[in-house]
Amino acid sequence: MILDYKKLWGDALVDIELNVSKANFGTWFKNTNISKQELGIVYLNVPNTFVKEWLANKYHKFIIKSLRDLHPEIRGVEYLISRTDEPGKEKRESGFEKPAYTEQLAMQELYINKEDNLNPRYLFESFVVGPFNELAHAAAHAVARKLGSLYNPLYIYGGTGLGKTHLTQAIGNYLKHLGGNKKVYYVTSERFMIDYVNSVQNNRANVFKEKYRKYDVLIMDDVQFLSEKEKTQEELFHLFNNFYDNNKQIIFSSDKPPKHISGIEERLRSRLEGGMIVDVNKPDYESRLAILQAKVKLGNVAVSDEILGYIANIIQDNIRELEGALNSIVCQSYLKKREPTIAEVKQLIKNNIKPKKMVSIKDVAVVVAEFYNIEEQMLYEKTRKKEVVKPRQVIMYLLREDFNTSYPYIGQKLGGRDHTTVIHAYEKIKNDLKTNTLLVREVEQIRALLYRE
Ligand code: ADP
Ligand code: MG
Repeated sequence: MILDYKKLWGDALVDIELNVSKANFGTWFKNTNISKQELGIVYLNVPNTFVKEWLANKYHKFIIKSLRDLHPEIRGVEYLISRTDEPGKEKRESGFEKPAYTEQLAMQELYINKEDNLNPRYLFESFVVGPFNELAHAAAHAVARKLGSLYNPLYIYGGTGLGKTHLTQAIGNYLKHLGGNKKVYYVTSERFMIDYVNSVQNNRANVFKEKYRKYDVLIMDDVQFLSEKEKTQEELFHLFNNFYDNNKQIIFSSDKPPKHISGIEERLRSRLEGGMIVDVNKPDYESRLAILQAKVKLGNVAVSDEILGYIANIIQDNIRELEGALNSIVCQSYLKKREPTIAEVKQLIKNNIKPKKMVSIKDVAVVVAEFYNIEEQMLYEKTRKKEVVKPRQVIMYLLREDFNTSYPYIGQKLGGRDHTTVIHAYEKIKNDLKTNTLLVREVEQIRALLYRE
């Protein structure tokens, strides 16, 4: 099939335009073109990851349908980030238009090495250490430096999205960068099982055995999936013994400690328990904030401390969700060419988080009064003493920003004040937050108290 790509895409766009709002069309489809076509797959050049994700998630159906209507042989569409933006064109106007971070990471995702399955972005350097994971980190680091002899196996467990895959792969990447001749291999236990089952079905069990025995370091992720898989467990048992006897390192991750995985044979369980077992917990507030700050720094993107603090307060259980929220905010900033407001941020991450406990106006007043060490009652009185005015303004700000409460209602609840007073208070705090880092810290801490677990 020989196609004029320019014409093909042009025709497709005419059709797509009918299905997409003007604003969206302009945003997502400009600077796109077809770069090639192979075996029925059309490769679409897009300017960056945001566009890529957006097209793939929201418009893929339209795109493929439009192309297929023109050429039924087309089977699929792949999105490629093109680096060929014409210089001078499409001037970047602000920091928000520079999605280097996500782009860079997404590019790297593509480069997962087929030889060892390691994702190059999982490094010790990019792993933030805090009280919640310092033990696991220390153990992983120690194992990386003293393979096979120190803790064998190393067994890291903890809830989902808490960094187990990142940390165990960091060991592998560390060894790779060291440049020795250790052969590292990362495999999920499910993959391992599939490999095994296939090998048996194809009468190639020996090839399977040989393949795994040639590695020096084996990282097996999510070993809990081997529950009830007796044959695969048996295979792993023998493999483990082979590694152990040869001082070769095995690293396991799991969502629970060995003794809590049901359907595991006793002898394998005792192997899993035979080395070092460490857990990763849920990150505390400071660690969550540190992780966000690290990602912002790494990506060289602009997100205010207020927003970072807000996300760190709201998303408490899962670092993957923390990253997801940050990405959607960066994306939103990029799209709107300004930072989203807290209300918008709230909306953005609404679907990601568990519903929070209900917080009433009274709760906010109590927490703020306590924080600034004043009588709650004074907040409702007419007094204009400095030590009361500021806390009152902070309450008004929070009620408006985080709860979208109407100005008149806030005024009414805080001692029958006029709505213009509330507007003024809101704007004042909002403005001060741009320059006053002490105030940023205070608001952060108040939010932590309000939304704490
Ligand atoms: P798990 O395997 O425990 O489900 P992952 O290792 O996949 O979790 O981590 C989820 C995401 O959070 C990954 O993108 C990872 O890079 C990131 N992450 C987890 N822990 C940390 C950390 N301590 N510092 C920085 N990023 C982290
Ligand atoms: Mg994992």
